[in-house]
This record gives sequence, structure tokens and C-alpha cells, in this order.
Amino acid sequence: MDCIFCKIIEGEIPSYTVYEDEIVKVFLDVNPDSNGHLLIIPKKHILDINEMDANTWTHMLEITKKMRKLLETKLQIDGLTLIQNNGMIQEVKHFHLHLKPFYRDPQTILPVEDIYEKITH
Ligand code: 5GP
Ligand code: ZN
Repeated sequence: MDCIFCKIIEGEIPSYTVYEDEIVKVFLDVNPDSNGHLLIIPKKHILDINEMDANTWTHMLEITKKMRKLLETKLQIDGLTLIQNNGMIQEVKHFHLHLKPFYRDPQTILPVEDIYEKITH
């Protein structure tokens, strides 16, 4: 299947992965809206919300909470917006939840590799 996110899961396309288990993978968005912009994806190819199952969704909720704590600790974020696009506005056709950090003070968008360093060290 020609799916970018399946290729990221398989390691065929590199990604700045910050968390991974048997059900999900979490990595930095290549074109972040703010520093620490993460994508949480299921490891099985699920198109969109219509194909999502309760077990995977519940696990994604737990990991979202865990990632929020990580972003608060490592990047001192002041808020977090969750977005999940479906239909025409979904660019990548593999389910993904955006975690977009909010900062009280204006921030310069840093290179993704710099943010990865901050999150993982
Ligand atoms: P959508 O509009 O489908 O909700 O958003 C897709 C997101 O995936 C975009 O924010 C885009 O920057 C991100 N993205 C697309 N291709 C890649 C990739 O190869 N690697 C990473 N890390 N993010 C990607
Ligand atoms: Zn896929």
C-alpha cells in the first residue's frame, strides 16, 4: 500500500519518533504549526474516524495524556490543541491525531531536530 504513515511505521521513511508501542507511534510533524507539534498514529492502517475502534481510541487517549505531560516537562508548553481531520481536509489518508502545543509567549519555530533533542534529553 502506498501510505506515507505505514512507511514511517515500517521505518522505510525516517521520522523523529518520541514514543512507540505495539499499538501506536508518536512522532514530530515534519511541518510543525508550533514547536513540539506531534502526530499520534495507530500502527494498523485505519483511514479515518469511521474506521476507528474503541480499544485503539482509548489507548490513543492514554498516550495523548502521557505526551501532554512530556511536552509540559520538556518544552514548558502552556496549552495543547487536539485536531483530527477527515474527508477533504485530511491530507494523509492514515488516521492521525495532531497534538499542537500552545505557548503563552510568541515562539520562533525551531528545526524539528532541535525540538527532538529537547524532548528526548
Ligand atoms: P492532515 O492535513 O492530513 O491532518 O495532516 C497531515 C500532516 O502530516 C501535516 O501536518 C504534514 O505536515 C504531516 N506530514 C506529511 N508527511 C509527513 C512525513 O513524511 N513525515 C512527518 N513527520 N509528517 C508528515
Ligand atoms: Zn497507512
